[in-house]
Amino acid sequence: MTLLGSVPERLAKNHFDLDEDESHIEVHQAIAKATGTGKLLVAVCPAHVYSEEPDGTIRVEYAACLECGTCLAVATPGSLTWHYPRGGFGISYREG
Ligand code: SF4
Repeated sequence: MTLLGSVPERLAKNHFDLDEDESHIEVHQAIAKATGTGKLLVAVCPAHVYSEEPDGTIRVEYAACLECGTCLAVATPGSLTWHYPRGGFGISYREG
């Protein structure tokens, strides 16, 4: 462990305000499956927001999003809609 603590310890200090009425992430399942983007999203997201169901559907736990933009950078056009959470919602960084 470093002087600053482990990455999970530092991330746990951040604050999330969850927008329970609206997800800021939507996976377009047919395109994600056809292009392999779904598996890519699962692999690249540092917060494990994406997971793959047995039938190949990509599940989204948007409450954990760190708003890093990595998924948007790797997704095939048309496979993902991502925008920042509405004002007042999302992550407030406390560490790192
Ligand atoms: S913005 Fe970052 S943390 Fe949020 S879903 Fe995309 S890859 Fe994961």
